[in-house]
Amino acid sequence: MKLKSYTLSNFKTLKQVERLSKEQIEAIEVVGNVLPFKTNNYVVDELINWEDPENDPMFKLTFPQKGMLSDEHYQAMKIVLNNTSNKDDIKRVANVIRMELNPHPAGQIEHNVPEFNGEKIMGLQHKYRETVLFFPSQGQTCHAYCTFCFRWPQFVGMDEFKFAAKEASLLKDYVKENIGVTDILFTGGDPMIMKAKVFASYVLPLLENDVPNLQTIRIGTKALAYWPYKFISDDDTEELFDLFELIVKKGINLSIMAHFSHPVELETEAVKIAIKRLRSIGVQIRTQSPLLKHINDSPDVWAEMWRKQVNLNCIPYYMFIPRDTGAQEYFALPLEKAWDVFRNAYQRVSGVCRTVRGPSMSCTPGKVQILGISEINNKKVFVLRMLQGRNPDWVAKPFFAEYDPNAIWMDDLRPALGDEKFFFEDELEWLFNEHLTDDEIGRFE
Ligand SMILES: *Cc1c(COP(=O)(O)O)cnc(C)c1O
Ligand code: SF4
Repeated sequence: MKLKSYTLSNFKTLKQVERLSKEQIEAIEVVGNVLPFKTNNYVVDELINWEDPENDPMFKLTFPQKGMLSDEHYQAMKIVLNNTSNKDDIKRVANVIRMELNPHPAGQIEHNVPEFNGEKIMGLQHKYRETVLFFPSQGQTCHAYCTFCFRWPQFVGMDEFKFAAKEASLLKDYVKENIGVTDILFTGGDPMIMKAKVFASYVLPLLENDVPNLQTIRIGTKALAYWPYKFISDDDTEELFDLFELIVKKGINLSIMAHFSHPVELETEAVKIAIKRLRSIGVQIRTQSPLLKHINDSPDVWAEMWRKQVNLNCIPYYMFIPRDTGAQEYFALPLEKAWDVFRNAYQRVSGVCRTVRGPSMSCTPGKVQILGISEINNKKVFVLRMLQGRNPDWVAKPFFAEYDPNAIWMDDLRPALGDEKFFFEDELEWLFNEHLTDDEIGRFE
C-alpha cells in the first residue's frame, strides 16, 4: 500500500467527506487552523467507521472537533476565516489562540538536556537514571496526528524543533560514559517515520562500539496503529528488519513501545501481520496510551484492548492521563474517574493483562500513579505513588493527597492530612535551585 497523507489543504478530496455534516467540515477547518491536522489513507480507509463518523473514536482521534476549542476561540477563528484568506492574518490569530492553550506544559523539550564534556547534547533527555530519551531530528513528525498530542506546538510550526540530534556518536559516547543508563528510548514525533537507513545511522554506532551497559533499545511509535505497512511492504521494510535482527542477535532487548488508543487499531489484517512479523524475530512490543474522553473512556474498551494486545503477543504497559495542554478540556477525565476506568478494566482481565500500570501522570517529580481512593481518619484521600522519579529513591513510596472530585492533573492536588508539602517537594525545590533551569520552575509541571 502506498502512503497518502491528508491535511487541511487536501482533505476535501476524500470521497468520505460527503458523509460529514456542514458543521463538522467547518469544525475541521476552524480547529484545524489552530491545532495540527494530518491523517492518511490507512486511518481513513481501515480504521474510521464512515457509517457514523461523527460518533467514531478514530475519527475524533485524528480529525479536529469543534469541542477542542473553547467557544470564544472557535468564534474568533471562524470570523477570521470568513473575512480573509490572507495566510499571515490567519496565522496571527491562530498563534494568539495557541498561546492560550498552554503550549509548553512541562517545557518538555528543553528539560533534562544532559551535558557531556561541558556541552549540552541537544536531542537527548535524561530524566530517569536508567533511560535516556533520544529525539532524532528526522523523526519529529508522525504518520497522522493525534488530536490530543502534547507535542502539537511543534507540529503547527510554533516551536522550531530545537534538537540537533545528528551526532549519533555523541549518543553513543554519552551512554557509554553514564554506566547507569541501560535503556535508550528513541522517540519523537514518531521515529518510525524515518527511513531505515537513517535509523540505522543512529543505532549502528551503538552496536559496533562496545557499550556494555546498554541493554534495551526502545522505539516509541504509533506506526503499528497508523501505518503498519512500515513493517510489511514499505521500500525500506526489509532493511529495517535486518537492523532489528542485528540488534536482537547482539543480545540487546528491542522493545517497540506501541501506542494504541482503541481496539479497532488492533483489528486490521495489516496490524496483525506487522505484529506477527516483529514478534517472529524476537522484537518485544509493549503498549501504552492515554485515557481519553470521547475515545476510550470506558472499562470495556480498555479490557478489550489489553486482551487483544495479549492475544497478539504484546505486553500492556502504561495507561496515561493526558497532559494539561492543547485540547485537554475535551479529553480530560477527573482523576477519580480515570482510576475508576482503570480499576474496572483491570478487574475484567486475567493476570496476563495486568502487566499494565496506571493511570499515570508524567509530571515534574516523576510518573505519578493513582493507586486509588481511601479513607484516613474519616477523610477521603487519593493514594498515590511514583512509578518513576527524578530521584530513584522516591519510586514506589505510597503518599496521599486530599480527595478532590474535580482534580484532573497533579497540579490540582494538595497534600493530605494537614501536610504542607508532599514528601518530595523540598528535594524537588533543591533540584530546581541547584540544577534545573529557570523555565523548569513551576509547581508540578
Ligand atoms: C516514561 C519515561 C521514561 C521511561 O520510563 P519507564 O518507566 O522505564 O518506561 C523515560 N524518560 C521519561 C522522561 C519518561 O517520561
Ligand atoms: S503519534 Fe505520538 S507524537 Fe505523533 S501525534 Fe500521536 S501522540 Fe503525538
